[in-house]
Amino acid sequence: MEFPRSKLPDVGTTIFTIVSRRARELGALNLGQGFPDYDIDPRLAEWVGRAMRDGHNQYAPMEGLMELREAIARKLARVYGLKVDPHSEITVTLGATEAIYCGIQALVGPGDEVIAFDPAYDSYEPAVRLAGARCIRLPLTQPDFRYDWDRVRKAVNARTRLILFNSPHNPACTAAMPADLDELAAAIRPYDIAVLSDEVYEHMVFDGRAHASVLGHPELRERSLAVFSFGKTLHATGLRVGYGVAPAQLTGELRKVHQFNTFSIAHPLQQAIAAYLTENPDTGRDLPGFFQAKRDRLRAALAGCGFSLPPAQGTFFQLLDFSGLCPPGDAAFAELALTEAKVATIPLSPFYADPPELSVVRLCIAKRDETLERAAERLAELAGRLGRAGA
Ligand code: GLN
Repeated sequence: MEFPRSKLPDVGTTIFTIVSRRARELGALNLGQGFPDYDIDPRLAEWVGRAMRDGHNQYAPMEGLMELREAIARKLARVYGLKVDPHSEITVTLGATEAIYCGIQALVGPGDEVIAFDPAYDSYEPAVRLAGARCIRLPLTQPDFRYDWDRVRKAVNARTRLILFNSPHNPACTAAMPADLDELAAAIRPYDIAVLSDEVYEHMVFDGRAHASVLGHPELRERSLAVFSFGKTLHATGLRVGYGVAPAQLTGELRKVHQFNTFSIAHPLQQAIAAYLTENPDTGRDLPGFFQAKRDRLRAALAGCGFSLPPAQGTFFQLLDFSGLCPPGDAAFAELALTEAKVATIPLSPFYADPPELSVVRLCIAKRDETLERAAERLAELAGRLGRAGA
């Protein structure tokens, strides 16, 4: 008899953890797991120190510090023109991942179906299964990762309880268009279906596009839990502070789970983020330009070396297409890049229930310019070797 009996027998350690560990062991440049390698704003660090010195060291309110929820409501008003009630519609969570996990536990159970789009971020399906529900994985189209709305309409039914939406999309680097939100709203209209929208890359949308949040879509707003991340916005993924925004009833259900999961989030961090946002009410405004410049720097450094670079509309990633240089197989290519070029990348196949043949890996652009340049040099050199070997 197997002991303990696994609830997730086919789940291993996440690809991010594995790749970061191996990058450390091999001394590789880590363009795998998505996190910045540059400093945060020192003012944020000062606020964290001050919050602890000022005694904000005991439990924060379960829903999140009111000052922080008010700062979030002001940001939602400024950026999206939304009126959100900080009392009943905003919950501070341990990163976006906790909001996603608790949202799923709160909304689905045995017999329910949840739709996710492949490639799907790796935490979605395990959370659905731990809730006892079934995750239906619908692939985005190849090679441009668009939604097949016909397929979505055919997949939804009376058992469907939740759709997991993600824009800007990790790892596809696409951004949903307002028409996608209309299609989504129309697809779920006949049923009692909620939307959990992972929008952690809301400020990383490029080329003059605006982020299309479900919160800005009046029909979806009524049925959605939208999830955001201070780790991404403040360049500090180790903060593990995020939040969920949903109508009062849905928020109530989310909080029922959140209160028994993490209960409440690090008080000094919430205090510090609230103070920082009050001091810098425009936080996030410079991020599209900042990350677009990173994307463009990496693209320019890799131009003409044999890889192709699919369009990256958003997120802090860029896909690298190696189909001109070696046969399909993203895991094998990622291994080659890691061991031969000493550049860690993330293959996309772990984000699929049923991976197609893939010739792309994901590179993180949230890195110092010199890290991006060095990684590009190494990848270009690898491309040169592969090109010669293939010639
Ligand atoms: N969100 C990060 C990424 O996509 C990974 C975070 C994690 O390792 N859980 O790279």
